[in-house]
Amino acid sequence: MSRLAINKRIASIPPSVTLGVTSKAKAMIAAGETVYSFAAGEPDFDTPEHIKVAAVQALTDGQTKYAPVTGLPALRSVISNKLKAENGLDYAPEQVVVSCGAKHSLFNIIMALCDEGEEVIVPTPYWLSYTEMIRVSGASPVLVRAKQENDFKMTPEEFEAAITPNTKAIIFNSPSNPIGIVYTRSEIEKIVEVALRHGVYIIADEIYEKLLYDGAEHVSPGSLSAEAQEMVITVNGFSKAYSMTGWRLGYFAGPQKLVKAVTALQGHSTSSPTTFAQYGAVAALEGPQDCLKEMGIAFAERRNYIYNRVSAIDGVTCVKPGGAFYVLPDISSFGLDSVSFAEQLLAAEGVAVVPGAPFGVDSNVRLSYACSMENIEKGLDGLESFIKNL
Ligand code: PMP
Ligand code: GLU
Repeated sequence: MSRLAINKRIASIPPSVTLGVTSKAKAMIAAGETVYSFAAGEPDFDTPEHIKVAAVQALTDGQTKYAPVTGLPALRSVISNKLKAENGLDYAPEQVVVSCGAKHSLFNIIMALCDEGEEVIVPTPYWLSYTEMIRVSGASPVLVRAKQENDFKMTPEEFEAAITPNTKAIIFNSPSNPIGIVYTRSEIEKIVEVALRHGVYIIADEIYEKLLYDGAEHVSPGSLSAEAQEMVITVNGFSKAYSMTGWRLGYFAGPQKLVKAVTALQGHSTSSPTTFAQYGAVAALEGPQDCLKEMGIAFAERRNYIYNRVSAIDGVTCVKPGGAFYVLPDISSFGLDSVSFAEQLLAAEGVAVVPGAPFGVDSNVRLSYACSMENIEKGLDGLESFIKNL
């Protein structure tokens, strides 16, 4: 038995189940097995050509050295412009920090903002990395269980009831992973009102802002008023909107004091994200945006198809997603917990889904439809046949 002692906070965190199921499915496919994977929230489209060309050009031009810790000035500037033009947020380029993915931005923010003894409110179901990041910081996640009959949306009353003198922040994710909830403007106004009244910071994870259905509107909590913006930290990235998951580029914008702290942290950990990749990100924001429309049309078609089929299965209930690319059907009527359901489904039908347990809902499983229509059709055949045979 090794005597190696791992740092206590790190030792207690489990590996990411989303990434785990994804790599298991990929390994099975590589080994020649037929697997229909609904695992990763990773768009199947290639990164648009003009973005790749910009990064290749940067490489050719010798942009292969360290960039400033917080990101290329040109990228911080186009991000600041984007936040103003699209989100109604008034952040100077100096208030923007570019990191290695929105995940990295969230990690940095939580490490810099939260302390031992403090609490961070997490509407549940939640994206599984939030709670682990909070625990690593020494703070505690406080789960607010949103009700399925409220379409899994946290009400302002539920939010307020969870606030204590130790509450530092809330993580607010709309459109959401794992369920595609989109909060309306008036719902967001009420949540922001509660946060401001209690001095609670809002970490707004807007990574799915471009993935909206049925004419839904994306509202950035920080855009509601100048007071709101002071209490909001806005997180976004390039992975989902521009199909750039492997580029590892995300960012946040927030109060100068937090920017300073994150800059110091990032300066001692990753330094800046990859320099030539950042030129691709500049092209993503400055270049033509029709790629977003094309991908949006494909996602809307997949969402309608998957929701209609899944919700028609006897014994399954499912909230209709208003955004992102996930459905989270309730499978509890079959008498299996989410991990057993997912494991048995993979073994029996070669269909990979992510169990709901690590998202805080053991009665559900998550299907990502960021995959081809053919994968969706065949995978759903497998899901239906699995359920029929239970
Ligand atoms: N937030 C949410 C809600 C997510 O689902 C993801 C998934 N990748 C991220 C943040 C992080 O994205 P990335 O690090 O690829 O920018
Ligand atoms: N966020 C995506 C998902 O939930 C990608 C994997 C991850 O980073 O968690 O599937």
